[in-house]
Amino acid sequence: MKVSKRAQAVPPSATLAVSARALELKAQGIDVIGFGAGAPDFDTPDYIKAAAVDALKAGKTKYTAAAGIIELRTAIAAKLQKENGLKYTPEQIIVNIGGKHSVYEAMQAVLDPGDEVILPTPYWVTYPEAIKLADAVPKVVQTEKKNGYKITPSQLKEALTGKTAMLLINSPNNPGGFTYTPEELKAIAQVLEGTNVYVMSDEIYEKLIYGDTKFVSFASLSEDAYNRTLTLNGFSKAFSMTGWRLGYTAGPLDAIKAMGRLQSHMTSNPVTFGQYAAIAALGPPADEAIEKMRVEFERRGKYMTQRLNSIRGIECLESTGAFYCFPDVSSHYGRIINNVEINNSMDFAKALLEQANVALVPGLPFGCDNNVRLSFACSLEQITEGLDRLEKWLNQ
Ligand code: PMP
Repeated sequence: MKVSKRAQAVPPSATLAVSARALELKAQGIDVIGFGAGAPDFDTPDYIKAAAVDALKAGKTKYTAAAGIIELRTAIAAKLQKENGLKYTPEQIIVNIGGKHSVYEAMQAVLDPGDEVILPTPYWVTYPEAIKLADAVPKVVQTEKKNGYKITPSQLKEALTGKTAMLLINSPNNPGGFTYTPEELKAIAQVLEGTNVYVMSDEIYEKLIYGDTKFVSFASLSEDAYNRTLTLNGFSKAFSMTGWRLGYTAGPLDAIKAMGRLQSHMTSNPVTFGQYAAIAALGPPADEAIEKMRVEFERRGKYMTQRLNSIRGIECLESTGAFYCFPDVSSHYGRIINNVEINNSMDFAKALLEQANVALVPGLPFGCDNNVRLSFACSLEQITEGLDRLEKWLNQ
């Protein structure tokens, strides 16, 4: 039986081959150090779990409004006002089935066939697929290491055409581990003034920032920015709730209403008792719970960056956000290590896994073949052992 052209056009994940092989090796009893994790390695804080249990006991087990319960949308509006300086009404907020669903649904709601979406590298692997599933066109802008892998105002100006419908900004960034400064974002916002280009601002890593890094919501930069921005966020990363599938989108009323219409036919509401737990998540213990995880990530990120930079031929910018290091390893391309030629990030990741039993993610699917991604959502002991192995492997 046939498979649709739409489904055929979605490629299998390019990172899957490496992670599948890592699992195979693990199943054979081989001690693989995994730097592939895209999820915090902490459990969901107890106060949030307790709220879900209470909700279940109270019979919160039925359908809700498709866009989410008003109590949660009100709590998110209060959070966005207090922490991000953003004034949204609950009607301007929709709760989605994870941030990934927010990305997909928002694009379905505002993009038309042939619309161009400016996508700076490195980008999260889901963005280009979500753009194409909306029959729009990813317009990839190759950023440069000397600019910290961030799109510059002049690159943005150059990429704008009459067909540009959206710019994607993800800060703090997956996989780059960098964060745009408020000044950098302001300069980008200024370029867009006078256009009718949406900004999709994926702020899911907002709480995980390090050193003196400042986080600012794109929509808070100016009235103009507010009017064009879809602010995406969720509970997965800040609260270690990846399995709960709770994300949200805030933005212009028409766009959010359009997402609501789509959601009412695609998924209905997010899981009901989870929504009650999400209200609790945003409550008073939040700051303390988040800070505990953030401090630990900061310690590991510093160590990982420092160790990577001490390895011959590896160059890694300081991780200012999220839980990734994204070093440039391309000076090793062209080498033959244990009879295997390393010419790109896929070769690098495969050979490292086979020969030194360290799993990391090649940069190619993120649009940066010179780089590889290492997650520090694992223990300091694992980081130390994994980087010892990487160093020994490269030094032979
Ligand atoms: N945006 C980015 C940049 C991400 O890295 C992720 C998770 N990998 C998400 C959105 C979505 O997360 P979730 O669907 O778990 O909310």
